[in-house]
Amino acid sequence: MISPYDLHSHSTASDGALSPADLVRLAAETGVTHLALTDHDSVAGIQEAIEAAHQHSVQLIPGVEISVTWEKKCFHVLGLHINPDAPSLAQGLKRLQILRRERAEKMDANLEKHGIRGALQEVRAMAGEGMITRTHFARFLISHGYAKDMANVFERFLVRGKPGYVSTQWADLEEALEWILKAGGIAVLAHPLRYKLTGAWLRRFLTAFRSNGGTGIEVVCGNSTPVQIETCADYARRYRLMGSAGSDFHDPAFPWIELGNLAPLPPGVTPVWESWRS
Ligand code: AMP
Ligand code: MN
Ligand code: MN
Ligand code: MN
Repeated sequence: MISPYDLHSHSTASDGALSPADLVRLAAETGVTHLALTDHDSVAGIQEAIEAAHQHSVQLIPGVEISVTWEKKCFHVLGLHINPDAPSLAQGLKRLQILRRERAEKMDANLEKHGIRGALQEVRAMAGEGMITRTHFARFLISHGYAKDMANVFERFLVRGKPGYVSTQWADLEEALEWILKAGGIAVLAHPLRYKLTGAWLRRFLTAFRSNGGTGIEVVCGNSTPVQIETCADYARRYRLMGSAGSDFHDPAFPWIELGNLAPLPPGVTPVWESWRS
């Protein structure tokens, strides 16, 4: 089922395979009428996406997916309906962009220790002006035969304790929320069940998130099962968070996630888009 709203997607400004304009064109072809572009720690693709959206009668919602470290754990917080030119957001993202460049160098050095050479040069070429992410390193490792597919890479490389992993102190939760709120946006916890946290940790996080101004949670994700959707809907109701729906689309070559292929939000969950539609 194609949802008219898809509020989580990536372009070549980070680890997506499509340019912002091509992503918007795909949204239009697919039947997504409201698309949020949410690249990792970057708003560089938004202007191009807005221009393409005008041509294709798509409503483009400016967004960003901010990398956050809270209690030594990494979380992804989406800023939706932001002003991409807001100064505090721009400044904050600049710091994360420097961190990403430094991390890429450390990841390359770590891979080299394990006998894997030449990653940095290739991931830089792949990313171009965009953010370098673990996805780029994963593509490098697959194309050189070190792993057979994405799932395999993230089992054997790039995760804690494995070659290529580098621990990074991303933005603090409080500051990331402040950048989003000052940019006039809504802060949404991305893919709540992908952090492999216990319920107790997720509840602690949501309490901190809520008390620092977070108001949304992704209830429907790209490959959510009905049980996962109900679990997230329950968090939304219990913490009085609005619900979002986003595929986290990256690449047409990853068949398990299609743009706009999202179940409807369950009853009793207020859609985030109502807050900017009114
Ligand atoms: P980074 O923000 O640079 O640490 O990279 C995180 C990105 O890596 C995510 O946004 C995904 O696109 C990708 N990623 C992480 N884990 C997996 C996985 N298990 N399978 C596929 N992609 C993954
Ligand atoms: Mn990604
Ligand atoms: Mn994410
Ligand atoms: Mn994402």
